[in-house]
Amino acid sequence: MWGPTSSGSPGYRHSGRCDWFKLLTVALPVGLLLAMVLALLMFETVVWVRYVIIFTPGCFALVLGGLASPLFRYAHCRNNYVAGAFACVFASAMYLGYYQARMVASGGLPMAARIDLLPMFIRECIQQDTIVEERPGLPDKVNPANPTLNWLLFAADWLIAARCCSWLLVLLNRRCYCEQCGRWMIRKTAHVAPGMGEMIVAAIAAEQIDSLPDSIPNVSLVREVTRVHIDVEYCPGSEAVSAACPAYFSVRSSSGLIPNYLVKQVPLSPEEMAGLAKRLEFR
Ligand SMILES: [Zn+2]
Repeated sequence: MWGPTSSGSPGYRHSGRCDWFKLLTVALPVGLLLAMVLALLMFETVVWVRYVIIFTPGCFALVLGGLASPLFRYAHCRNNYVAGAFACVFASAMYLGYYQARMVASGGLPMAARIDLLPMFIRECIQQDTIVEERPGLPDKVNPANPTLNWLLFAADWLIAARCCSWLLVLLNRRCYCEQCGRWMIRKTAHVAPGMGEMIVAAIAAEQIDSLPDSIPNVSLVREVTRVHIDVEYCPGSEAVSAACPAYFSVRSSSGLIPNYLVKQVPLSPEEMAGLAKRLEFR
């Protein structure tokens, strides 16, 4: 059936479809609202702490991506390009909204509706903003305004915000989807000892799941740092129509921030699913 590694294996692929009605009438306005709220919080944070180049817009964009993620699940969005494009729109609204908040702070509440003045205000900020260098044991060094550098940093921060938001949103939107039932799948995970992942993959690839031990216990999440995660994803409706809905199986190690997949979202037959459920402690 499928090979022992994820490369070239016929794994799950998003269909690319979306519920455009829900996307445009709910996800878009709510996402923009979230972006506005985070723009205000970003402005308040900068007032009380400081604007840190790259770091401040990047962190707020990650929060925005995390908060916006459920909106795309609600809109049944199985298209990473669409999700990424919407994330860029949200991140841009947040980043430019931060400048809008600065404009309101300097010109008063009526400025909130004057989006037409925003380009001019941003140009003024770029001309005047100074970069403060923190020096351990010494007073902060205030550099004179450098419009060229400020334009470059303005573009870099905008790009970072868009990239961070779209990256997290796409990362969180990886769950499999049952096209037959129109539902996101349930994911359950077992945590097994190193080495068990390869054994399970080999047994399923050879269609010999009965060769596995009768019980494969979970390892301690505290003591076993290099544990292996066995994920199964199945349709919520599969209990009623077990053979009709697909199921998928992944094996990944937990070392590092980026998961290292041995196999990723490869198809699982109902018999294999039942065999794994009998042996592993999925939670
Ligand atoms: Zn289904």
